[in-house]
Amino acid sequence: MAIYDPSKRPSDAYDTHTHLNEDEFLEDVPAYWARAREYRIMEMNVVGYNHIGNARAVEMAHELEGVHAIVGFQPEDVREFNEQELAILRDQLNDDKVVGLGEMGLDYHWDENPSVEVQKAAFGAQLDLARETNKPVTVHSRDAFDDVYEMLKAHHVEEFGGVMHSFTGGPEEVQRFLDLGMYIGFSGMVTFKKSDDIKAALQVVPLDRIVVETDAPFLAPTPMRGKMNEPMFTHYTLENMAEQLGMSYNELAQITTENAHRLWLER
Ligand SMILES: [Zn+2]
Repeated sequence: MAIYDPSKRPSDAYDTHTHLNEDEFLEDVPAYWARAREYRIMEMNVVGYNHIGNARAVEMAHELEGVHAIVGFQPEDVREFNEQELAILRDQLNDDKVVGLGEMGLDYHWDENPSVEVQKAAFGAQLDLARETNKPVTVHSRDAFDDVYEMLKAHHVEEFGGVMHSFTGGPEEVQRFLDLGMYIGFSGMVTFKKSDDIKAALQVVPLDRIVVETDAPFLAPTPMRGKMNEPMFTHYTLENMAEQLGMSYNELAQITTENAHRLWLER
């Protein structure tokens, strides 16, 4: 992989999914933010996942330039999701700094996760809210592509749009979500040696549907794999993806930033 050289004046990039609102970062959020900006990662979506994570995301979006908030309940936290929390989400969506709903979805990987019925109810209610407010959704799917697809389709995602975040499927799976009008978010996983499926999926996604993300503090890209991820590392993923696509870092940074603006900001 080519070594990143800041003197090349890289184009601005956008980390479309990061969790500066996780405990790992809390002591030092402005430092992580500033380090990202040194590498021209000028915008990021701080993505919520439960009551506390959402509140922190909104607060950070007000405090830090280029930070946007996304609020929602992730599958593992939907036991705390109820009518009252739904009303809080609806309220938070009135805030200009809140650009979307998520993360939400279905996760059948962990036995200790809430039941399929409970997960589907919370996912469905959030999709309905997205349709009502015309906000894009950030969708988490683990071992659940068929059910996630059916729910997105049944809830008319093509009307309000969204992203399949940290996509982990292959070309056939990705095509179904593209057909629903979804954007595809690629995380550090696309840089891993054994991610043949994800690499193959990247090749079939139209350039105007690709966005990049860290999902920090998780899933640090090559060559930082195993370390704690942070928004700055977006540049490693972008560089690796650009190489896979046979284009320059700057071209892909510009394209993915434009895509993110279209999906979350210019609506
Ligand atoms: Zn996430």
